[in-house]
Amino acid sequence: MKKQMQIYKKLSEIYSYKTILKFNNNWQCLVAIMLSAQCRDVMVNKVTDTLFKKRPDVKDYLSNGFENEISSLNLYKTKAKNILSCANILIDKYGGVVPSSMDDLINLPGVGRKTANAVLFHCYNKSVGIVVDTHVTRVSNRLGLSTNHNAEKIEKDLCKIFPENMWGRISNLMIGLGRDKCSPKNPKCDTCSINKYCDYFNSTEKKVNKQPGVFIR
Ligand code: SF4
Repeated sequence: MKKQMQIYKKLSEIYSYKTILKFNNNWQCLVAIMLSAQCRDVMVNKVTDTLFKKRPDVKDYLSNGFENEISSLNLYKTKAKNILSCANILIDKYGGVVPSSMDDLINLPGVGRKTANAVLFHCYNKSVGIVVDTHVTRVSNRLGLSTNHNAEKIEKDLCKIFPENMWGRISNLMIGLGRDKCSPKNPKCDTCSINKYCDYFNSTEKKVNKQPGVFIR
């Protein structure tokens, strides 16, 4: 089995492909994902726990006060502006329904390819591309699945090596690994279940083992 398939298989046994963001409908999914930019998902869940009770549907975003309700999150002013614009566009143009195509989604204010990919997967179970965030970037580079640092290029690299029916799932599996083991500083490589497939781990091992007197694991 190819390296990337071994990685996928192992990660699927340990991590979930489902997002930890909480939502009850497609609009809430879009809002939660937009709020999660540069914020931890647990922080977003704290905010949306109250927010979604007060404003469950897209039409509920037309009344005042939304910005204050998300003010504990990073970039809340920009996020509030974009989400309110999205609500207006969805009501005017899409009958209040979150669009199900990449082209329509990326034309919404504040919605880039990463958000659109996540919405398509979590709302519509569509694997159009691969969500590449900071975790996926770091993990892909360390594993040697991509040498690029630009999100769109990494997405293209990953889409070439993983079959399409895995695209939606692989990013959350990598995000799970990134949070659990593959942290930016001091990754827990010794206990990482896929270390034998990892370029970073194997190159570090070689360097360490070349030093005289160093214990070889
Ligand atoms: S072995 Fe280390 S660097 Fe490689 S994926 Fe696992 S935690 Fe990350």
